[in-house]
Amino acid sequence: MNISYNKTIEVRYTADVFVAGGGPAGIAAAISCARQGKKVFLAESFSAFGGAAVTMLVPGFSVFTDGVNFLSSGIGKEVYDRLKEEAYPRYKRYCPRSIPVETLKVIYDDMVSDSKVKYLFHSNVIDSVVEKGSIEYVICSCKGSIFAVKADIYIDCTGDGDLAYYSNADYEFGDKNGLVMAATLCGIWSGIDWDNVKLPDGRCLDKAFSDKVFTNEDRHHPGMWRIAQQTQNSQGLNNSDGIGGSNVGHIYGIDSTNSESLTEGIVKGRHQLKEYRKYYKEYLSGFENCELICSASYLGIRESRRITCDYRLTVDDFKSRASFEDEIGRYCYGIDIHSATNDKEGYDKFISEYTSLRYAKGESYGIPYRSLAVKGIANLLTAGRCICTDRYMQSSIRVMPGCFITGQAAGIAAAILCEDKEYDVHKADIKKIQKRLVSSGAYLPNYKV
Ligand SMILES: Cc1cc2nc3c(=O)[nH]c(=O)nc-3n(C[C@H](O)[C@H](O)[C@H](O)COP(=O)(O)OP(=O)(O)OC[C@H]3O[C@@H](n4cnc5c(N)ncnc54)[C@H](O)[C@@H]3O)c2cc1C
Repeated sequence: MNISYNKTIEVRYTADVFVAGGGPAGIAAAISCARQGKKVFLAESFSAFGGAAVTMLVPGFSVFTDGVNFLSSGIGKEVYDRLKEEAYPRYKRYCPRSIPVETLKVIYDDMVSDSKVKYLFHSNVIDSVVEKGSIEYVICSCKGSIFAVKADIYIDCTGDGDLAYYSNADYEFGDKNGLVMAATLCGIWSGIDWDNVKLPDGRCLDKAFSDKVFTNEDRHHPGMWRIAQQTQNSQGLNNSDGIGGSNVGHIYGIDSTNSESLTEGIVKGRHQLKEYRKYYKEYLSGFENCELICSASYLGIRESRRITCDYRLTVDDFKSRASFEDEIGRYCYGIDIHSATNDKEGYDKFISEYTSLRYAKGESYGIPYRSLAVKGIANLLTAGRCICTDRYMQSSIRVMPGCFITGQAAGIAAAILCEDKEYDVHKADIKKIQKRLVSSGAYLPNYKV
């Protein structure tokens, strides 16, 4: 049964630029745009910025550099430097490879507030009003009301491409069978004797499988990140109070654009973490006294919609180390497609691609502006995990330092579009965007004045 539901709602905020979602892409977009003097409104459905690192407790940042050049420069570099500076002493040594999550939250709060972005937490984009191919309003729900926001340019940084989807943009989802990479419920652990941890090898897993520790036997084992070192007491190091962040276990067949699927997934994830607790405590040295402190509030989603834009970045661009006339940044993380199914074929394919499709020091691929300009909609850009790529490139660019790059570019592009009163993102002045990106600290080695 369906019902028709009409409601008159307030246009509560107006802005030059609206940003949906405050993960690494969203904060980079909002901050870089506001620093250009534009009025920016950001709606974030959670209670903090940071996206997956905060809501899903993803324990570590991937690479910021290609080993020679700082690719995620500009906003990414600011976050990197501030984390190194502001992390509590026990956490300092391991970040930003490992994430001190409370420090990160406050850094993001400060960076967004200092740039004068207007933002609202607990505020979910649920629809949009599109007229003649342009978004006129986005519709948000929050505690107590539903309201509209009006802007000239909109940027979708929801990870799932929600705003593009509500605006009827085309998108791709998963492999040829519509299956996406498995999800993971991450967690924070204490009581780890890091100095005596020995890397798990296949034999521990084989033994645990034969002892029936796991309901679903899964060979993927990304592991536990060392987040904080042990404390020092009068007798020396207290060897059993190290802190770790887990990225272990897979929950297969989850569709992050479907609440029923997410509900089922997080419940499975919590049960799975109980099994990993047993595995770590009883099978791996250094973890005998470990304890799971908390699991994430949100299931860790690696893949969902890839929004169709003016250019689809593909694995051929990865292999050729592509450069583009309209390049807005370069990135280098290797191909990392976790299997969508729990079988040997999927696992072997993951290992073979993960180990072969990687770059040497100093190598990178270009990211074209066109991969952010959403096809069929005049005033919508996208950034972060949901930009226009094939599955291979999504598995590379999705990591957080990559999302800072595309977010920053979308924010600067939106500011220039507003300055030029050109509200069609497909007609942007790319040279002007590149010039402004360079002056904002972006890494654009192919840009020539
Ligand atoms: C298990 C796991 C391990 C990973 N490991 C690593 C790693 O080691 N290193 C690394 O760099 N990356 C890693 N990643 C990838 C990385 O964390 C994400 O791909 C990245 O955070 C995506 O950034 P984003 O800004 O596009 O989206 P997100 O980080 O997902 O942020 C999107 C934000 O939008 C908000 N939002 C969503 N929908 C709406 C809506 N409708 N309205 C308003 N707000 C909305 C969300 O609350 C969220 O804050 C991992 C991911 C997972 C799941």
